[in-house]
Amino acid sequence: MNQIVTVMKLINSTMVLAAPFLALFTLHAVEISPVPEKVIPAILDRQDFQVPDRVQMSGWVGRRIQGNEANRLVKLDATRLLEGYRKRPGRQSWDGEHVGKWLHAATLAWVNTGDPALREKLDYIAAELVKCQMEDGYLGTYVESNRWKSWDVWAHKYNLIGLITYVRYTGNTAPLPACRRMADLLCNTFGEEPGKRDIIKSGPQVGMAPTSVLEPMALLYRLTGEPRYLEFCKYILRAWEQPHGPKIISTLLTTKRVDKIANGKAYEMLSCLNGALEYYRTTGEPQILQACLNAWQDIVDHRLYLTGAASYWEIFHDDYDLPNANNVGETCVTVTWLQFNTQLLRLTGEARFADQLEHVVLNQLLGAQRCDGGAWGYYVQMEGRKPYTTNLDGQCCLSSGPRGVALIPTFAVTTDADGIVINLYDAGTARLNLRDHTPVTLTTETQYPGKEQIRIAVEPAETKSFAVKLRVPAWCPSATMEVNGQKVLARPNADGYVAIQRQWKKGDRIALRLKLEPRLITGDHMNQGKVALMYGPLVLAADEALLGKVSPAKNRGASSAPEAIPLNGIAVASPELAKLKVTPEPAPEEFRTWPGAQVFRIRAVTRKPMPALKTGTALTIRLVPFADAGGTGTRYKVWLPLPRDLYRGNLLLDGKASDSRQDHLDGSMTDEDVETFVTTADGKMAEEDWFAVQLNEPVMVKRVLFAHGKTLPNGGWFDATAGKPRIQVKRTKDGAWETVAELTDYPATTAKNSAEMDGGEQLICKLASPIKVWAIRIVGKPACGDNPQQAFSSCAELQAFSE
Ligand SMILES: [Zn+2]
Repeated sequence: MNQIVTVMKLINSTMVLAAPFLALFTLHAVEISPVPEKVIPAILDRQDFQVPDRVQMSGWVGRRIQGNEANRLVKLDATRLLEGYRKRPGRQSWDGEHVGKWLHAATLAWVNTGDPALREKLDYIAAELVKCQMEDGYLGTYVESNRWKSWDVWAHKYNLIGLITYVRYTGNTAPLPACRRMADLLCNTFGEEPGKRDIIKSGPQVGMAPTSVLEPMALLYRLTGEPRYLEFCKYILRAWEQPHGPKIISTLLTTKRVDKIANGKAYEMLSCLNGALEYYRTTGEPQILQACLNAWQDIVDHRLYLTGAASYWEIFHDDYDLPNANNVGETCVTVTWLQFNTQLLRLTGEARFADQLEHVVLNQLLGAQRCDGGAWGYYVQMEGRKPYTTNLDGQCCLSSGPRGVALIPTFAVTTDADGIVINLYDAGTARLNLRDHTPVTLTTETQYPGKEQIRIAVEPAETKSFAVKLRVPAWCPSATMEVNGQKVLARPNADGYVAIQRQWKKGDRIALRLKLEPRLITGDHMNQGKVALMYGPLVLAADEALLGKVSPAKNRGASSAPEAIPLNGIAVASPELAKLKVTPEPAPEEFRTWPGAQVFRIRAVTRKPMPALKTGTALTIRLVPFADAGGTGTRYKVWLPLPRDLYRGNLLLDGKASDSRQDHLDGSMTDEDVETFVTTADGKMAEEDWFAVQLNEPVMVKRVLFAHGKTLPNGGWFDATAGKPRIQVKRTKDGAWETVAELTDYPATTAKNSAEMDGGEQLICKLASPIKVWAIRIVGKPACGDNPQQAFSSCAELQAFSE
């Protein structure tokens, strides 16, 4: 093992620019066949989920898949994953979820790469986890007196998912009895019979966390044929609809809105919906599929960020309520959304779900994964810095991200009743078996999405008539395709795919060209006055590492070193795409994460005076795909403002700022930059602090944003003990301040406890109705931290919006 690890380390350190290193491992000598299920599903998949050893990708996505395996999954510390089970309780209430999530991701990754080091680790961790099971079947991280009160069923869910995946793909059935004992314990503990517990009350998020165990219970029923596991699934569906339950299915059938389900918590809800679809596959109850399709349509229409993220503060909010930075884009939500789309793709065979998969993979998912695959971000927002970390503590997303990436080979290229379906275009080889068992090899050469050309060699083992279905993405303005140099009509069928039905033989070649061009997305709702750019499937972002520098005017004397152009100092040059002159070019060294990596020149203007540049000076800047933005630790931004005279965003941008202790304006709270802030720190006490912005003319305000400045040992936040900070306005120019709302989402801080508020943390307050204001301020009690002789607060941004 050590030798392999050493080789891996050498490879990893040069991975980014090295050729794909798949060839290092001897791939499984024989194809892996999962342990068959005993129960045939009622609904057969339209598209077949592929065993990941069949699909080897080596383009941009392929590199990310390899980085996930080599730099993350194989490197995770086994002792850390198992510690909460070996010595209960775990270090934190849901620490038990990580090992099951790792087993799921690592099994799929091992099937894909055949890496013996990962297999050794899998065997060890699966066996060690099973050893921690208690006599009665319990396999959680709680002490006995605390069982079944919070995240206990949840951890069992992930242990079942992880171990079932391990058993099915490795063929090592040793952990199967442990799975059955876990499931039996759940069946004996929860139910409607006297003496049993109510599963809804056994965990958080209105019972959505514990009841998401539906997914592995349906899988275990099909694997074992044990009828009581199916009965348990039916119990969960009834439990959902109890008066105190989350009412998932009935709410989706009546309101067709996910934000109306329980408390709207996205990760747990999508986990339940993935379970519901596994149950639907098993039993075929049509209203379950209809409810899930309603959820999908609602999310796509009203609750999806441009990059494919789907929540802020981890919750589904009101229609189009999508702030750019407010704990946006939890990676667990990204991955469960990806899984939801894979389930719907398998069940329906419709290309619209594959379109969403391409979109979320190439933007939000790869944007949450550090380019080398070694680290992940929790909240990956539309602007800010990517919060990449390798530490699992309190970070659910760190073990979710690798699951999403490990799933990609299962749906990238699949089979169906008619032949082959290509969902995701990446260089590589797929060795598939048609449903009649005819082997067909597809070899794809492309630098998509860097280049338009995709060449696919089709090699059936024998000449045979079948269809090759190509997905022409919904964003693509025109696609051309040829087979052996002959043009084929690119007209999609009802399922959304272009099917090339013919007698295929060895040596046949498909040439596909998906026209890549820029698109301008005009911001609406919370992004009025801003635009975003896309290029083909890629969402682009400005990154301060690519903005360049300006030299101060010579007459400014000694300080003539060039100064970096700040991210908040630029606007796009025009609201018209043609005038932006978007031009791709090869990425510079620090952004060259794969051979096809590109950046995109666009015309911009300065948005505020800078040394030697007055407002409105024309510049050329370069944008980078969201997936690579912030990869060097710098700040990035998806939504870019229009030039100042066209900007309709933050209404306070031109206002005059002040605070309750006038001498201490040390930064700015009106520059749309959360990293510069104002504090009231003057070493004195105060009963009340405020941060205000006065305007020259009145504006209609519907929404107010406050960004916390900085948390220091001796203060910096508001003490919310006696009440949350208030929003006050002046309705006339010289009128009196009037309280109109409270920042109800402000954390429950005290004078000494900051509730772990981070610098730049944003809080948004929607007013009950729009108010015409001349001035606006935040008022609250300053906190003293560890020094009761003084107290102060801080503010990074005060912004207001008309919508
Ligand atoms: Zn998470």
